[in-house]
Amino acid sequence: MSQNKVIIVGGGLVGSLAACYFAKRGWIVELYEKRPDPRKADSNERLARRTINLSISTRGLSAINRVDPDLKKKVMDIALPMYGRMIHNLDGKLNYQSYSLQGEFINSIDRGLLNHILLAECEKYPTTTIFFEHSLESCNFENKTAVFKNIATGQDITASADLIIGADGAWSTARRYLQYSTRVNLEQTYIDHAYCELEMKPKNGEFAMVEDRFHIWPRKTFLLIAQPNLDKSFTCTLFMPWSKFNSIKTEEDLFKFFEEYLPDTIPLFGKEGILEYFKNPKGPLFYVKCTPHHYKGNGVIVGDAAHCTVPFYAQGMNCGFEDIEILDTLLVEQAAPLVDPTDNEATKDVKTNRLTNSQIEAALIKYTACRPRDSASMIDLAMYNYSEMRISVNMLSYKIRNWIEKKLHLVFPKTVIPLYSMVSFSKMSYTNAVAQWNKQTDWLRFAFNSITRVSLITAAFFAIKYGGPRLGYRLPAISEITKLIKK
Ligand SMILES: Cc1cc2nc3c(=O)[nH]c(=O)nc-3n(C[C@H](O)[C@H](O)[C@H](O)COP(=O)(O)OP(=O)(O)OC[C@H]3O[C@@H](n4cnc5c(N)ncnc54)[C@H](O)[C@@H]3O)c2cc1C
Repeated sequence: MSQNKVIIVGGGLVGSLAACYFAKRGWIVELYEKRPDPRKADSNERLARRTINLSISTRGLSAINRVDPDLKKKVMDIALPMYGRMIHNLDGKLNYQSYSLQGEFINSIDRGLLNHILLAECEKYPTTTIFFEHSLESCNFENKTAVFKNIATGQDITASADLIIGADGAWSTARRYLQYSTRVNLEQTYIDHAYCELEMKPKNGEFAMVEDRFHIWPRKTFLLIAQPNLDKSFTCTLFMPWSKFNSIKTEEDLFKFFEEYLPDTIPLFGKEGILEYFKNPKGPLFYVKCTPHHYKGNGVIVGDAAHCTVPFYAQGMNCGFEDIEILDTLLVEQAAPLVDPTDNEATKDVKTNRLTNSQIEAALIKYTACRPRDSASMIDLAMYNYSEMRISVNMLSYKIRNWIEKKLHLVFPKTVIPLYSMVSFSKMSYTNAVAQWNKQTDWLRFAFNSITRVSLITAAFFAIKYGGPRLGYRLPAISEITKLIKK
């Protein structure tokens, strides 16, 4: 039996990590990317890319670690820790909310640098070939062929493989062709909000704000966030309804908006920084949920191609990386049934490059049994978190619950887990995280209602017992109550 070959469409974050995994497992890997090699691209191309930095947390790091712990070290070398949210209120007051009481943190990382590291990593394997400037034109999942246009020459080439992986992002062509092969249920929803990035440059060579925090300006109908970069700048993202973006037409409108809602940022951005608003693109925000993610043992879509999300839980890429770790686990399970597929050490040298089509199909069936549901839960969480960050973070009820859950988590680490920890600091499936959180909400509601009822009854009892006689009331004797019940 010959060595299996995989075609990966899209050399973004998820596609390049997938290439590392398949190359490590002994497959011949052909990675096709529409853009030029980003490592050679000029700075204009860098600026044209969406989002300069991202947050990477436990799920993303776990997937990188499984392919190679040294790769994780390289990634951590370019990451900056963020231990909690720094909330900037309208009156200029700051309020810090740590992500956990155990000092856990998420990491701010440059999207471009991370992509460079992953591309360099997969290229280290002699069985990997990367075709830049090759755009997927069509894909036949039935006979496992794909047609790519060489953008430089204009020529079409046809490639075939044992498995085709669509990692070509939110507007995936692979997903469209999967729909032609099988009955894919698909939901695509644009939200009414958009985003625009602004840069907060260093001040006197230092970070303009404390750097190990995720900064947010919650303003109910909109939100500004800021994450640190290695060059001591912050990338700030303004999330706002389209109508608000459209209403800011002149410099005067813009400065009025900043003075009214974000006055503390004016000296931090400076006039030039604020005016970037007009130069920078306003990006749409939407999500895609679909199922199934695979077709027979022939193809599968991963990352944004399968579950593009709104970015408010910082999980899009993390979930995409987790896709690849889970896919690998399921393929390893087929290749080495006696080995624990989740044990990194035990599976280190397992090769999956001799699997038959039916073994690959068995793995992909299991994959579709969990990933569409889990990624849909991740998207629901992201939608929820937008309102948490814009509105709830400043509400007393939110703060109390947050405090109680964190404290209870210290005492009962497995029974009570704050939602943020389940999502960002664990590998619990997103679906289970939502279920666990709903359960905790019910418990807390029950405890709160019970405490309130007991307090009210106790207060009423003492009020009648001690205050009643003075007003001519008295508590009935037990014998009187028994008589009443008997009647
Ligand atoms: C504002 C914003 C902030 C975000 N912040 C975070 C965050 O903090 N944390 C997080 O985890 N996620 C975040 N995300 C989500 C994250 O950016 C995506 O989930 C992630 O980039 C998905 O990676 P991907 O490889 O699947 O897709 P992409 O990164 O989009 O890569 C797809 C690749 O496929 C290529 N391609 C497309 N079409 C073709 C074709 N026809 N042929 C060949 N190649 C093709 C593209 O050129 C691209 O290189 C954010 C997203 C946004 C919009």
